[in-house]
Amino acid sequence: MKLDHDIIIVGAGLTGLTIAYYLRKAGKDVLVLEKDEQAGGVINTLHEDGFTFETGPNTGIIGSPELVELFDDLKEKIQPETANPKANKRWIWKNGKWHALPSGLLSAVFTPLFSLKDKFRILAEPFRKPGSNPDETVDQLVLRRMGKSYLNYAVDPFISGIYAGDPSRLVTRYALPKLYNLEQNYGSFIKGAIKKKKEPKSDIEKRVSREVFSVKGGLKNLIQILVDEIGAENFLFNCSDIQVSPKSEGFKVNLSSKNDPLEFSANKVITTIDSHNLSSILPFISEEERNKISELNYAKVVQAVVCYKKWNGIELNAFGGLIPSKEKRNSLGILFPGTLFEGRAPLDAAILSIFMGGMKRPDIIEKSDQEIKKIALSEISETLKTEKEPDLIKIFRYHSAIPQYELSSGERFNTIESLQQQYEGLILAGNIRDGIGMADRVKQAKQIALQLINE
Ligand SMILES: Cc1cc2nc3c(=O)[nH]c(=O)nc-3n(C[C@H](O)[C@H](O)[C@H](O)COP(=O)(O)OP(=O)(O)OC[C@H]3O[C@@H](n4cnc5c(N)ncnc54)[C@H](O)[C@@H]3O)c2cc1C
Repeated sequence: MKLDHDIIIVGAGLTGLTIAYYLRKAGKDVLVLEKDEQAGGVINTLHEDGFTFETGPNTGIIGSPELVELFDDLKEKIQPETANPKANKRWIWKNGKWHALPSGLLSAVFTPLFSLKDKFRILAEPFRKPGSNPDETVDQLVLRRMGKSYLNYAVDPFISGIYAGDPSRLVTRYALPKLYNLEQNYGSFIKGAIKKKKEPKSDIEKRVSREVFSVKGGLKNLIQILVDEIGAENFLFNCSDIQVSPKSEGFKVNLSSKNDPLEFSANKVITTIDSHNLSSILPFISEEERNKISELNYAKVVQAVVCYKKWNGIELNAFGGLIPSKEKRNSLGILFPGTLFEGRAPLDAAILSIFMGGMKRPDIIEKSDQEIKKIALSEISETLKTEKEPDLIKIFRYHSAIPQYELSSGERFNTIESLQQQYEGLILAGNIRDGIGMADRVKQAKQIALQLINE
């Protein structure tokens, strides 16, 4: 095995794979080190009993030009799919019923989700003055600009769906930078959204949208193509005890592979792993820097995939349903992957992906499979109206599912910046910065790859 490399990437999730893909495409010498036995990180697709289902992310949003470009670059090899228009609606649970989240002016006027007072109040949103506290949390911002019912029945469930988070802890400029910038740059969300729509866009920017994507056969196919393109010989799986140390030029990387010690050297090291594992692979950084990097809370998420060969509950003609915390139920929401994409379930069958836990219910991950199954089935029976026993149920736990961009984020970003300057060739990437969704991951990855290619 070759021990000297130009670039070593730690972590073979979507970020690490996308960086490696573009670097390899440009002819760079890359080695990807991964602790698990396969690539993909939290992304995986399973096939069982005629059902195809995702563990981890079920879908993404075509939310960055880099994601559009990645699909263009791989267009001969994968078939991206966008969600069935039948799944355009998003449901919100309120007072024992699902209600569609308004998608237009008329539905916004008549929806029972928001109070009459807030519906009138929103008309004045363009005239309210922008906030001056840069560390304002999401709930504070929404209360100030939109009102309590919007916080409870739009933003809180939206934050559960994306961050499994708590709007009173997420700082808007870090967690929802686009929303923060709308207010800061245009004075209002409504004015900003209208003005942004009119701004000239490049051809690629025009293809960026809120549309939901997956890949034919499941997201694992995207991972597999990236692995094939990078080349199996450029990976080392089942690595443990990775330790990176700076040398006079470049870095030395020690690790154990199947209990054998190995030492690599590289001009550049890019990490794409979570903040807790990160501080343990960088033994040379100070305790203060270590604390600043690892002071990052992760939502603990439990996902139950529940499949029915013959569905007899309510018609699943939506993307899924989100449950506001105010409704005090035991789940964050339920997605309907069988409605979203063709070929995931047999005719008349249903796949439900139900998410539990998050920042507000960290206790759920500690429960036994039996208890989690009971919660999932009771959520399904009460909200989707079936008493049937499922034909298949699978439970997945994610102890570090989604990083929460809270107040400590500023210090973390500064520390990352300062370490990258101190140790030339060290790049600390991944979802510890620059966003948590798949579109953000691809954006960051491509930008890093291009920076190295153009150096
Ligand atoms: C339950 C869940 C639901 C989600 N839903 C959505 C969604 O609907 N839409 C969306 O856009 N995004 C969603 N996401 C987020 C999205 O999946 C992630 O942003 C993305 O997949 C993260 O990719 P990554 O490569 O940055 O990190 P990861 O996938 O975490 O990859 C990091 C890799 O590093 C490896 N690693 C860790 N420590 C070490 C070490 N010490 N040595 C070597 N290797 C190491 C890990 O094994 C892993 O393979 C979801 C995430 C989860 C967990």
